[in-house]
Amino acid sequence: MIGVLALQGDVREHEAMLQVLGVSTRQVRLPKDLDGLEGLIIPGGESTTIGRLATLYGLIDPLRDAIAAGLPTYGTCAGMILLAERLSEGSQPLLGALDVSVRRNAFGNQNDSFEADLDVTGLHDPFHAVFIRAPWIESFGDEVDVLATWDGHPVMVRQGHILATAFHPELTKDERIHHLFITMTKES
Ligand code: GLN
Repeated sequence: MIGVLALQGDVREHEAMLQVLGVSTRQVRLPKDLDGLEGLIIPGGESTTIGRLATLYGLIDPLRDAIAAGLPTYGTCAGMILLAERLSEGSQPLLGALDVSVRRNAFGNQNDSFEADLDVTGLHDPFHAVFIRAPWIESFGDEVDVLATWDGHPVMVRQGHILATAFHPELTKDERIHHLFITMTKES
């Protein structure tokens, strides 16, 4: 069973994709919803809102503890921001699980939303990626593997049991990145 943090954002799209892949899902809103999960997805949306609601529901420490204890976790877009240890600007609640510094809305107003074919390490064919007010990774530590870049900036990374993309595979019909995450949940 894979949990999807269901405070705000594109929760249903992740659930739908997991269901297509034959995985059962649970919406996570309270600390007890984390019990017994094999993996967790933090969806895209608005990271400040998700962070504020997670604080309100007493979820920040339970999420930090579960991820630190090895729960495989995948963050998309706002989810990637929440997983980061550092922001290049501003401050907001973060889970601090990924040794990266993230710049929010990094591609600027001109490029607010765009689509691009990315070469992703481990995937045979390019991945058609949807970016919506996306962040990029500005700097990262030694433990972080960069799996894809756009315009010279990391937009997909993995650090052990944590995966993050600045883009939204759940808004496409391409299941390969969710499939990769499911494989990660089976490794641990
Ligand atoms: N710009 C949003 C943020 O900073 C992320 C956008 C998204 O998740 N599509 O939280």
